[in-house]
Amino acid sequence: MSKLSVRDLSLKSKRVLMRVDFNVPLKDGRVVDDNRIRAALPTIRHIIDQGGKLILMSHLGRPKGERKPELSLRPCARALADLLNMHVDFVDDCVGPEASAAVDRMAEGQVLLLENLRYHSAETKNDPEFARQLAALGDVYVNDAFGTAHRAHASTEGVTHHLQPCAAGFLMMKELEYLGGIMASPKRPFVAILGGAKISGKIDVIQNLLPKVDRLLIGGGMMFTFLHAKGIGVGRSLLEEDRVEMAAKLMDTAGEKLVLPVDCRVSSHFDIKAGEVEHLQTVDVSSIPQDGAGLDIGEASLVLFGDVLKNARTVVWNGPMGVFEIQETAVGTFKIARLLAELTDRGAISVIGGGDSAAAAAKAGVASRISHISTGGGASLEFLEGKPLPGVEALTDKK
Ligand code: AMP
Repeated sequence: MSKLSVRDLSLKSKRVLMRVDFNVPLKDGRVVDDNRIRAALPTIRHIIDQGGKLILMSHLGRPKGERKPELSLRPCARALADLLNMHVDFVDDCVGPEASAAVDRMAEGQVLLLENLRYHSAETKNDPEFARQLAALGDVYVNDAFGTAHRAHASTEGVTHHLQPCAAGFLMMKELEYLGGIMASPKRPFVAILGGAKISGKIDVIQNLLPKVDRLLIGGGMMFTFLHAKGIGVGRSLLEEDRVEMAAKLMDTAGEKLVLPVDCRVSSHFDIKAGEVEHLQTVDVSSIPQDGAGLDIGEASLVLFGDVLKNARTVVWNGPMGVFEIQETAVGTFKIARLLAELTDRGAISVIGGGDSAAAAAKAGVASRISHISTGGGASLEFLEGKPLPGVEALTDKK
């Protein structure tokens, strides 16, 4: 069922309470990366243009119910004011008399940002009374924070029990359109690429994706548990002993669909935390030295993956192919990012599930050539797992 969009609402003179994701990095009281604020601008501008009174709420970091000044949203009000080229009001609390008074003073087309929701532990506890107080600030509710849609918090779920209608903002709509679209009716061949450290974090994604995709490419640390399950020695590579049986079962079910790397780049002298890797060499996966750890996929694997990908019309990617934080072992990850960009140039739909892969695409300089990069790492992962997102479920269904 599709959800009501902010475009469906009549907003003139209405108090529009909107959940955004302004969880941005700060340094010395300034916003260092305003991407998340920019991502909400289309919805913000639309509400202003329609004459709504826009009340924005967000969390920032994890203050765990305490007023931590270094996690104040005030710098975001300044950053948003600069982007909109207009005054953005700010109030020191997200509920209570001060917040109510600030809302009462608002005129049409004005913007008010409330202080960090997580200064109150009631937010993450989805406390009904706190949700009621938040809801009392608005006439309608909009959620444009896909990044927190997988959490049933007061500002994402609780509030919707006290306020109608509840609509998705443009950013949220775009996320649902792309992620929902590839899961419901992907253009085929549909290929998924999964990487990252561990199988344990991605089991549900693998299980949910397997019946839907035509091919599933596996890279990153998790490849070694699969290789081990095939009886291959993986040296000091990441290995989840307790997942070996599961990996074997997954390979059994998947058959030809599941594609593992054929070579990897190994080192016996490395300190990942210190960012040091020495004497890297590329070996066949069947020849990983006992004292070596596989830290990236090799050239032959990239050729193999490239071959599988070349006809793909839909690709979804989550998780790096190696320790991409270190330049020497970021080769495979960056190459996958570039392959995705090339495929997209040729008309394929590419979706990156946020987090590390999104950062890698940005570092590789190809972010703008990807069809959609999710703004929510955790939320997009849960979406790919096939789980309902409470923050989306709670929105009003479109008739
Ligand atoms: P995840 O959060 O599960 O997506 O894992 C991301 C992390 O996996 C990144 O920090 C990578 O450095 C790490 N990673 C990827 N490949 C490997 C590998 N072969 N060995 C160790 N860590 C890896």
